[in-house]
Amino acid sequence: MALSGIQIYKMLPQTNCKECGFPTCLAFSMKLAAKQVELGDCPYVTDESKQQLAESSAPPIRLITLKGKDAEVAVGNEVVLFRHEKKFVNRPGVLIRVADTDEKETITAKVEAATAYIVDYVGLDLKLDGFAVEAASGDAATFTAAVDAVRKSSNLPLILVGNDPAVIEAGLTVLDGEKPLIMGANAENWEAMADLAKKAETALGVEAGTLEELAELTEKIQGKGVEDMVLHPTGQGMSSSLALQTQIRRLALKNFRPLGYPTIAFAGSGGNPAKEATLAAHSICKYAGFVVLDTFSPELVYSVLVLRENIFTDPQKPIQVLPAIYEINDPKPDDPVLVTTNFSITYFSVANEVEGSGLPAWLVVADAEGMSVLTAWAAGKFDAESIAKAVKQFGVGDKVSKKVIVLPGHVAVLSGELEEELPDWEIRVGPREAVDLPGYMKSALT
Ligand code: SF4
Repeated sequence: MALSGIQIYKMLPQTNCKECGFPTCLAFSMKLAAKQVELGDCPYVTDESKQQLAESSAPPIRLITLKGKDAEVAVGNEVVLFRHEKKFVNRPGVLIRVADTDEKETITAKVEAATAYIVDYVGLDLKLDGFAVEAASGDAATFTAAVDAVRKSSNLPLILVGNDPAVIEAGLTVLDGEKPLIMGANAENWEAMADLAKKAETALGVEAGTLEELAELTEKIQGKGVEDMVLHPTGQGMSSSLALQTQIRRLALKNFRPLGYPTIAFAGSGGNPAKEATLAAHSICKYAGFVVLDTFSPELVYSVLVLRENIFTDPQKPIQVLPAIYEINDPKPDDPVLVTTNFSITYFSVANEVEGSGLPAWLVVADAEGMSVLTAWAAGKFDAESIAKAVKQFGVGDKVSKKVIVLPGHVAVLSGELEEELPDWEIRVGPREAVDLPGYMKSALT
């Protein structure tokens, strides 16, 4: 857990020499606790204190980064149990599993389709993070060929799954310069798997059915010099999985270091996509760092990735689009100019309605710090001045011949002030709801 300013103060020299730029050691320790200065700013901290302070400032859940050929996925570094306490930091990686017993063509087709999967979701790219290749055959040559087939079809990060260190090591020969996750180490093979992870500089998955066994294994593996681990609690069934994942998170946040690692969940449910989706959903909510799906289908993946976005967006930071002038349906100079804010959902509501109507328009998106129209207006972030500023900044007057601008109906009150800010423009008041825009444009603007 993070130390308080007073706890840090007790580890400082307490000479008040001022060399750190602060009048007292106490003032410096308060700034250090708030992470506003570096420990190195005090030249007199002892090595012992340095070590203690470094340990206390380490995140309760270790950051694990998997690297593929030209992509990576980072999980961990979480500091809260509930999103509203602060925020969740790193989205769980969502990966697709293939088995080395599948035909090469089957593997290639699945991996290529999953890699190409990308969906624009309110301005965000929804996509998958990698693949788990399972050594189901138990044969080194077969596994290596499968890893090679995956790598030739995708550059995304990989997890190599199997309990035989020799087979996993063979698969690693294909992945030059990458950092995959290898798994898993269990009570029988942990020494050999730890040696392999250390030699290959990979993260290591650790598997056990109880928290006590997991903690015991991670301590032994750390003793072999492996720091990057991912926990796989292997409890059967949904309620067991939920309980174990939640207990791991709770204990990690209490700074129980043996469980201070991200977790992984395998959601595959014997070909039952509904059950797989449910398991994946609860793993995303509580509290998997990686979620592995067996099924690649757009409908399953879309629902999982949308849920992930909804859980892992910062609740204090609205999703925004870039303030700009957007062209919808190839507008010409005599087409109307609409105005809205840069809150993603507001933008997409307006843009989708206009686009769907087939009517051309220029859409000016003003910077309102990601707030919706009424919220931004109430907060003073969407007013006549900011709208006029956006119109001038984006050179809207140079693009159109008819200087008619349409305000959202909710801020009709701004029309008088906007006329003063933009004296060359005719200001009109549009409908309150985006859904009414096409009808308004047909009746009032043509
Ligand atoms: S430099 Fe170190 S010892 Fe000197 S006042 Fe700052 S914290 Fe205290």
